[in-house]
Amino acid sequence: MNNDVRDVIIIGGGPAGFTAALYTARANLEPLVIEGFNWGGQLMITSDVENYPGYADGIMGPAMMADFRRQAERFGAEFLTDDVTRVDLSERPFRVYVGEDEYRAESVIVATGASARQLGLQSEQTLQGRGVSYCATCDGAFFRDKVVVVVGGGDSAMEEATFLSRFASKVVVVHRRTEFRASPIMVDRAQANEKIEFVLNAVVEEVLGQDDGHVTGVRLRDTDSGETSEIEADGIFVAIGHDPTTALFLDWLDHDDQGYLVTEPGSTRTNTPGVFAAGDVADHTYRQAVTAAGTGTMAALDAQRWLEEQEHEPQVAATSV
Ligand code: NAP
Repeated sequence: MNNDVRDVIIIGGGPAGFTAALYTARANLEPLVIEGFNWGGQLMITSDVENYPGYADGIMGPAMMADFRRQAERFGAEFLTDDVTRVDLSERPFRVYVGEDEYRAESVIVATGASARQLGLQSEQTLQGRGVSYCATCDGAFFRDKVVVVVGGGDSAMEEATFLSRFASKVVVVHRRTEFRASPIMVDRAQANEKIEFVLNAVVEEVLGQDDGHVTGVRLRDTDSGETSEIEADGIFVAIGHDPTTALFLDWLDHDDQGYLVTEPGSTRTNTPGVFAAGDVADHTYRQAVTAAGTGTMAALDAQRWLEEQEHEPQVAATSV
């Protein structure tokens, strides 16, 4: 591994990071991708992907990520399969640490993604991609004429329930309280939908599955009485929020109150010149593989142009918050 000052280090190995790697590699910037120990991101807990353009017959999420990675590697991107433990973005070259090892670069692309919050059940993990989903847009169409459960009481849960009612024969929203965090208009819309039922004051205690590994229902526990009950269902959509993977950057980069990195509108530029953010780490709206790949491309082009500008301008110290 070459430890000189790089043109660019990309942190994160999902659709955004690998696409930024492809573009920067093809621009001869010889990127180092510190892809994370569990590279691939949210696609690694997704089975069939049918909405990524170019895969006309669909593809499994992990296979798609392996393709992305291989394509960037073909043009010379270098990968480090480990987790970044610390960054220092106070001055250039920027410093990125993996344990005691220091890597330096003139520009950094942050593409560490976000993760859907999980219920934390063993049965949920076992059945991920086999009926347990975190994305109705991605997986809703697999549940035509089926019964699905949506967990959550926020706008995501209401939106996903309403979206799923286009396909499913019945949607059961399970929420742990009687008050909703979602905006009233979203709740009203879901409540007015005759395909959507609500079970309130209930939590999912276990996701039930067949021996062949498909969801058959959920066991619920009433939060008042403690009584348990079962609902038969073919799928469960967990819609209890997302967490951006930004802990390492909060001291250095502007972020919103939920921890998502803030970029200049229409670009991937953060408040620190030379540091760019791409993918779900800076996007709580779209969260699609194709939009992450799109902003990964933008970050690569932004970084490339920024590096070119530095060659023609006197060095200015980077700012930090
Ligand atoms: P959220 O607002 O944080 O709501 C999460 C929901 O999940 C809450 O109802 C919460 O219950 C529940 N929950 C959390 N952990 C749980 C657990 N372990 N077990 C059971 N339930 C759990 O998240 P969100 O709905 O994803 O929305 C995030 C942000 O995006 C919000 O600002 C929202 O307005 C916005 N958004 C907007 C739209 C839209 O306008 N079209 C669509 C989606 C999201 P409690 O209420 O009891 O805490």
